[in-house]
Amino acid sequence: MTTFGATLTIDLRALAQNYQTLNNQLSSGNLAAVVKANAYGLGVEEAALALNKAGCENFFVATLEEGIELRKILPTTSVHIFHGVLPGTAKDIVAHNLIPILNSLNQIEEWQPTAEHLAGLHIDTGMSRLGLTSAECESVGDRLNGFNIKIVMSHLACAEEPANPKNQEQLALFNGLRSLIPADHASLAASSGIYLGPDFHFDLSRAGVSLYGVNPTPGRSNPMAQVVRLQAKILQVRSVDTPQTVGYGATHQVTKPAKIATLGIGYADGYLRSLSNSATAYIGDIEVPVVGRISMDLTTIDVTGIADAELATGCLVDLIGPNNPVDQVASQAATIGYEILTRLGHRFERRYISDEV
Ligand SMILES: *Cc1c(COP(=O)(O)O)cnc(C)c1O
Repeated sequence: MTTFGATLTIDLRALAQNYQTLNNQLSSGNLAAVVKANAYGLGVEEAALALNKAGCENFFVATLEEGIELRKILPTTSVHIFHGVLPGTAKDIVAHNLIPILNSLNQIEEWQPTAEHLAGLHIDTGMSRLGLTSAECESVGDRLNGFNIKIVMSHLACAEEPANPKNQEQLALFNGLRSLIPADHASLAASSGIYLGPDFHFDLSRAGVSLYGVNPTPGRSNPMAQVVRLQAKILQVRSVDTPQTVGYGATHQVTKPAKIATLGIGYADGYLRSLSNSATAYIGDIEVPVVGRISMDLTTIDVTGIADAELATGCLVDLIGPNNPVDQVASQAATIGYEILTRLGHRFERRYISDEV
């Protein structure tokens, strides 16, 4: 038996399958993979290599550090940096052959001395975060002379709600503004945007979370294969009877004789404390509730009625798995799949499944 309290299994075959599923959904252009934040917590080296093998030639990360790390993993693919060029970093960006997404007039100025190298340009169509404003697009004109803008991009605010009128508003604004920018290619859609249809596809779509199994079409069935499985080990089982309580704050009170199993995982492992008294775990196909507060290193589940043979020390319980996918766990934690994935810890064992082994 391994000494880890939990095991995270990452299925790189499912990741490659998701790349194909999304790519098949595109009516135009190519599919880029967003691998920022350590590939949404799953491991950038393993994920990027698997995606590249599946045919991906364009990658996006958030920061320069992430870009340098990815460049070591994939020496020749295109690597774009969402944060763009921060003061004093242009030389490093060029040295590592990275493509900054220029987000402001200041960044355009910062890139000017290296303008012959490839860059992208972000225009803001409704997020009010990064990107040139509409007025800046109208007036940017000459400042881009001599620049080598490979791609002009923007980002949708409400793509996971297909009926939201903001999608069409942003699309119309993007189409108007991009004609002002001398760029060969355009990019608008992230995961959910891909499912808004052909008008949103342009030359490059930027898929992140859907590659990793999160549903890009909330409220409809998930077209993606599940990539992540999180299994925690049973450390101990005890019988409890009323009026006993379970865990910190005594937030769970047993009302009749019960069996409580304690698992070797807690919020320090990214099993969020907001899942206290709300998550469902699975022993095989049997649903069991998480009861009491999740502590730093331990989680308690009510296993009353489950045969002792299934509850031996070391038996594994699914906290994210076939019966409780990432999206369900996210909704039980009152958050989104993105946060569940990016918070996954590093104390437990990580296993990668691929065709090679
Ligand atoms: C993170 C990010 C993406 C990927 O979004 P998903 O919803 O995870 O597919 C795409 N574009 C930008 C600008 C991003 O910041």
